[in-house]
Amino acid sequence: MVFLNGKFLPIEQAMVPVLDRGFIFGDGVYELVPVYSRVPFRIDEHLRRLERSLAEVRIRNPYTALQWKEIITRLIGEQAFDDQGVYFQVTRGVAKRDHAFPKDVEPTVFIMSNPLVNPPREVVEKGAAALSAVDYRWLRCDIKSISLIGNCLLRQVSADAGAAETIMFRDGVLTEASASNVFIVKGGVIRSPAKSHLILPGITYDVVVELAQAAGMPLEFAEISEAEVRAADEVWITSSSKEVLAITELDGKKIAGMEELVNVVNGKKPGEEIEVTLLRGGDEKTVTVTLANRPASIE
Ligand code: PMP
Repeated sequence: MVFLNGKFLPIEQAMVPVLDRGFIFGDGVYELVPVYSRVPFRIDEHLRRLERSLAEVRIRNPYTALQWKEIITRLIGEQAFDDQGVYFQVTRGVAKRDHAFPKDVEPTVFIMSNPLVNPPREVVEKGAAALSAVDYRWLRCDIKSISLIGNCLLRQVSADAGAAETIMFRDGVLTEASASNVFIVKGGVIRSPAKSHLILPGITYDVVVELAQAAGMPLEFAEISEAEVRAADEVWITSSSKEVLAITELDGKKIAGMEELVNVVNGKKPGEEIEVTLLRGGDEKTVTVTLANRPASIE
């Protein structure tokens, strides 16, 4: 069951006219909200970012935040699975093809929810490989535009090589990855590019920043050179579906600090038990887990 322009219907019946400006020009914006145990994570933040993207491209937001939430909640309830990724997009609508904006056109709204696909446990524990590329996208990467051809081409660079992501540099400076934000750690300091028109303001980026600040970890928003990324102790990518994922290899070279990475949390070592708080069904629940063994070096 999906949502299209006010109606809930099976995806096979959801049709958009070929003159929709989303189809013709990629003229629209989107969001993807992760849903854990049927509870959307940071929905208000996603709706605020949608509002901002819409305002930047001058498309009217057809719904209030409350209406968006009602529709999304109903759609989540229609699915047979608990952990979901709710994708929603708004295009400028259907009009005769002309670059200039049409007048009095209703935006097209499409929402679907799929099973949430996070990286497999093994990849989370061992880390993933990435490739680098020159960031040749446009200069408004802060807008979550559905025109993703640049991101798709750049993602394909790493996909062709069987790697998880493409980390991008503009004029030798780190921007982000093709569908995620990037953090590095050097000498115990967490560093990431400051928000600007060159990167998407990630909701997961904000979560990482909040957690680091709450834990009193040194954190710096800085211009990070390509050389600094390659010499980093750790590299992480963040996104709503990848959550926080360690990059242990860049362009075939190991990220230095990851070689000796040992799983130590609050002074506990692999095999020991720790308590973690999870959000389940909207409630916080404390469970005891055994720390996994991490390889002393990453193959
Ligand atoms: N940058 C880009 C280019 C992205 O496509 C995404 C994922 N949509 C992100 C960063 C991460 O954003 P978020 O944490 O909100 O998923």
